[in-house]
Amino acid sequence: MEREKIREALQKIVGRENVLWKQVDLALYEYDAGLGRGKPDFVAFAHDADQVAQIVRLLHQEGISYVARGSGTNLTGGTVPLDGGIVIELSRMNRILEIDLENERAVVEPGVYNLTLQNALAEKGYYYAPDPASQKVCTLGGNLGENAGGPHCLKYGVTSNHVLGAEVVLPNGEKTWVGGKSLDPPGPDLMGLLVGSEGTLGIATKILVRIMRAPERVVTMLAIFKSVEAAGQTVSDIISEGIIPATLEIMDNLVIRAVEESVHAGYPMDAEAVLIVELDGLTDGMDEQAQRILEICRKNGVVSSRRAKDADERAELWAGRRGAFGAVARLRPSYLVCDGTVPRTKLPEVLAAVKEIGKKYNLPIGNVFHAGDGNLHPLILFDDRDPEELARVHKAGREILKVCADLGGTISGEHGIGTEKLAEMSLVFRDSDIEMMQGIKSAIDPKGVCNPGKVIPQPGAALSEIA
Ligand SMILES: Cc1cc2nc3c(=O)[nH]c(=O)nc-3n(C[C@H](O)[C@H](O)[C@H](O)COP(=O)(O)OP(=O)(O)OC[C@H]3O[C@@H](n4cnc5c(N)ncnc54)[C@H](O)[C@@H]3O)c2cc1C
Repeated sequence: MEREKIREALQKIVGRENVLWKQVDLALYEYDAGLGRGKPDFVAFAHDADQVAQIVRLLHQEGISYVARGSGTNLTGGTVPLDGGIVIELSRMNRILEIDLENERAVVEPGVYNLTLQNALAEKGYYYAPDPASQKVCTLGGNLGENAGGPHCLKYGVTSNHVLGAEVVLPNGEKTWVGGKSLDPPGPDLMGLLVGSEGTLGIATKILVRIMRAPERVVTMLAIFKSVEAAGQTVSDIISEGIIPATLEIMDNLVIRAVEESVHAGYPMDAEAVLIVELDGLTDGMDEQAQRILEICRKNGVVSSRRAKDADERAELWAGRRGAFGAVARLRPSYLVCDGTVPRTKLPEVLAAVKEIGKKYNLPIGNVFHAGDGNLHPLILFDDRDPEELARVHKAGREILKVCADLGGTISGEHGIGTEKLAEMSLVFRDSDIEMMQGIKSAIDPKGVCNPGKVIPQPGAALSEIA
């Protein structure tokens, strides 16, 4: 079908005003929060599942590729169209359809922001555990696509532990339900396959999530350390003691300074590392746990510590952490967020390696990480107008992920693979594993039109690229 005819067909499905086709409009959909770029042919705003199904059916018939997009905040290029095609924009499918407190379930459309759901639940004394730092703007559809995590995922698990079912538009345009309200539906775990597949196996048009009663009490503490290693050791010691806080987050000096300059969260500018610890649960025994954590901090040479006195102080401490990625943008024009995971006990080793990699490539690297789950986010700062510097950034990013893999970890904790870590898949998967993934993809999407070129490398390509 020629270009004009496709535009008309899309306009017929979603309405004239809901299709973008001018170059200036399309330019806004060329990128997400990763580094890659690629312009779509059209952007279509869908308002319900039937419209998504009709669009997908049309594109399947015509063999035209498409990509589902929530807010486009993913950090690995998952929503960037690689070879033209259509962006199916889901942000207008933003209704909370059901909150079932008795059964602790909620059903939402994919364009609902994570924080919108949290706020609606908070009014009723409930919450949804996965809380990406981007929660003000990222959608639950995007969270499903990326298997998003967040500071509170240490204790409660990531998105895959909280999404129980979804209505999905398959790549042939058929609508179906996967999973359901019960915790353990029979048969293969198709929901598990879908979560984290970055929109390559279908588009979720309704999402069924597990919700939880808000904790009786929350205690938030901030501890300042002389070194990132001491903060990391404290994290290991807290968990070895059998205490699992809701959150154990670390930031290093480069990030602390950027955060203070932009958010004024009250972190000392000269601190080498800050550790945020949040306990939640029953009031009984919480003060004793907090006391024990302070003793562990002291044993590791804590410089100072404080405990949030009220909700405002707690929000202030969190504003710093949640604003960290945005704040470093003050330091250089661009940054690459690496996302690797190592066994917790290997944190000091991987951080030392990151420092060396920064020196080797002459690049400033800040660290902010979900330390409790060994998930680190080295932020490599650079200027993307300098191609030579950009090449060094890619090399440094790859080396960091290789260190993670070599230490028994993996190449993504929560940000997915997208286009940016395709080559690194070979660090953790064999060719035969990748062939199996490719087989699943071809069985569900035989024409290869559903967000092609993401997550799964072509067999063989990965090993040669990384060598
Ligand atoms: C400042 C900042 C902080 C961040 N902090 C965190 C963090 O703490 N934890 C974390 O995990 N991530 C974090 N992220 C990354 C990002 O916010 C998450 O990956 C988020 O889940 C993306 O949501 P989105 O709505 O922007 O999705 P998009 O970027 O629009 O899409 C993400 C992927 O999901 C697919 N997709 C979108 N909607 C659907 C759907 N309905 N069905 C199937 N597939 C779909 C897309 O095709 C794409 O591959 C952060 C990003 C930024 C910029």
